[in-house]
Amino acid sequence: MRAILFDLDGTLLRLTREYHDLLAETFETVCGTVDDGWLEAYDEAFYDLFAACEPDPVRRAFDRVEGASDPDALAATLREREAEACEPPAGAAADLERLAASYDLGVLTNGVPGWQRYKLRAHDLERYVDVVVSSYEAGAHKPNVAPYRLAERRLPADAHAMVGDADADVRGAQKAGWAAHRYDGGGFGDLPDAIRWER
Ligand SMILES: [Mg+2]
Repeated sequence: MRAILFDLDGTLLRLTREYHDLLAETFETVCGTVDDGWLEAYDEAFYDLFAACEPDPVRRAFDRVEGASDPDALAATLREREAEACEPPAGAAADLERLAASYDLGVLTNGVPGWQRYKLRAHDLERYVDVVVSSYEAGAHKPNVAPYRLAERRLPADAHAMVGDADADVRGAQKAGWAAHRYDGGGFGDLPDAIRWER
């Protein structure tokens, strides 16, 4: 059996709204106000924490925003808003169900496990995949090969392919010796042909 691993953000789910609008609304909902300094402070803190795979990066980034209150409520609200603002490509569920008959399927995402699973469940996509592998669990993000190696251990297969919307997805797959397909929108029905399995 061969395995196809999907990126999550921008591939299985894409944002239908600007992320900064979601962030601003989150501050307004929880704190009653927002300013540009808060948005910048959050972005900077989140980027640093996430890049280093530090635990709980969203809540801790909110905690570093001077003047903002209740980082737990901010993190929960942002997670909810992000999940609501995501949508899968048209026909994704039917395509995944069809693919699952012939391939092992998984998610390989740069992200925090609980956060990413929350979004998958919100859109009822988790049931189509055998594993959800997050870069945080490997201690490094794509294109580092560590998350690919973790995915190989969690979902052993004769061959692996990565499907993702970013250069990092494809570059990491190539370094790991996987087939790869750069996803650029649309459904997943043509994937078996689009993936270049022969290397
Ligand atoms: Mg992506």
